Amino acid sequence: MGGTTTKIGLFSSEGKLMDKKEIPTRVAMGRKSVFQDIAACIRTLTQDHGAALSDCSVGMGVPGPIDETGYADVMVNLDMYDFYPGKELSELLEGIPVKAANDANVAALGEMWQGGGRGYKSLLFVTLGTGVGGGIILNEKILHGAHGLGGEIGHIWVNPDEPETCNCGGHGCLDQMASATGIVRNAKRFMAKAEKPSALEKFDNLTAKDVFDAAKAGDEVAEKTVDYCMGFLGKNIADVTYVIDPEVVVIGGGLSKAGQYLLDVVYNHYKRYPKLKKCLSDFRLAQLGGDAGMYGAARLALEEK
Ligand SMILES: [Zn+2]
Repeated sequence: MGGTTTKIGLFSSEGKLMDKKEIPTRVAMGRKSVFQDIAACIRTLTQDHGAALSDCSVGMGVPGPIDETGYADVMVNLDMYDFYPGKELSELLEGIPVKAANDANVAALGEMWQGGGRGYKSLLFVTLGTGVGGGIILNEKILHGAHGLGGEIGHIWVNPDEPETCNCGGHGCLDQMASATGIVRNAKRFMAKAEKPSALEKFDNLTAKDVFDAAKAGDEVAEKTVDYCMGFLGKNIADVTYVIDPEVVVIGGGLSKAGQYLLDVVYNHYKRYPKLKKCLSDFRLAQLGGDAGMYGAARLALEEK
């Protein structure tokens, strides 16, 4: 479930994606309507494929913290509060099992199961987009934490020198350094201080993609920016991997389109922090893109079954 659209996939019990649909999340219509829309879409999908609803189970990823009992306190983007999303959907689907979890955690599970983390059982998943998100899988299980905030690495404070305040109220959160927004903000700062001209100056609406493209092409300001911002991420990943010791770190989100270049920069920072060589985590790019959450939700559903 996202703030503007909800993606719904029908999977076989072997985990094969058979069909998918995307419907608008009509937030303004209220929670009841949104859940009715989702239930109707699930009924259509199962009918289209001749599946009996009573044979199905449902997993869902929701944009907010959700605890292990399935309770969601607040989902700001959906304007929904104080309820059990799984229970609510199950009641609209004749009581079939529905398990809900946080969307980043569910995406992490999807990447472990059928994406960049395939073959691994424990992983740290990092999404780099307009914000920085994360999820942790240990022994094939989501680490929810007491409040459903497990793996939420984006608001760890990494840079006490950052003058701007983060939208969470913090200062120098990872989100402010390694997100698309953070990269653009820091690129502008480096440009203002640069002694040599930069290819970035020609952009009226500079994006993080422009910065990565220019860095790959050898632009000094862009290279400095990427190295500076990703340095915080590499250090942060090193810190987190000391605690959870995952087999693999999977990097996804819009910025991961920068590919191996991005992975190498982050890895080179990560490995600066001393650790026994054989204890270093592998680094992989995410593979499922925007479908990761759907795959993870399917995996949750299979666990429920
Ligand atoms: Zn923050």
